This record gives sequence, structure tokens and C-alpha cells, in this order.
Amino acid sequence: MVLVPSDLARLLLRKGVGSMTSDRAVCSKCNRTPLAGELLHVLESERAVCSLCLRELPEAEQNPVRSERVHASARHLAVVPRAA
Ligand SMILES: [Zn+2]
Repeated sequence: MVLVPSDLARLLLRKGVGSMTSDRAVCSKCNRTPLAGELLHVLESERAVCSLCLRELPEAEQNPVRSERVHASARHLAVVPRAA
């Protein structure tokens, strides 16, 4: 099987998007994956909503238990000591 560049790009893109969505938090209201740097708010009901949806909730429900910053990568960067 020969991959032409556009097939390869599509394959890589699909793989990248697939791996991004599998271990990422998603807003339970709009099903959107918040962008890196956005806050995802976890409500008392354990539902996670993005900032946009939080504002649309009734005021009584606008008190998230915690808010988590969405990181650019689900995998944490290694912090290693520098060689002297
Ligand atoms: Zn949302």
C-alpha cells in the first residue's frame, strides 16, 4: 500500500485527534473539548462544564466544586535536572 501525502496527513490527523479526545475532559453540556488554558468547572453533581456553559446555568448552580485548567497536553512534561 502506497500512502500519498494527503492520505498520510489525514491518517496522522485522525490519530492525533483520536488520541486528543480519548483522554481529554469534555464539557457535559455542549460536548465541546475546552481549549488549552480554558477552565473546566466541576459542579456538585460531578458534571464538568466549560466556562461558557457555566454562565448559562441557573445562578444557584454556578458554584463549581473545583475548576481545572485544561492543559495543552494530557501527558505531563518531564522535569529533569540539567546536566552541569
Ligand atoms: Zn460547554
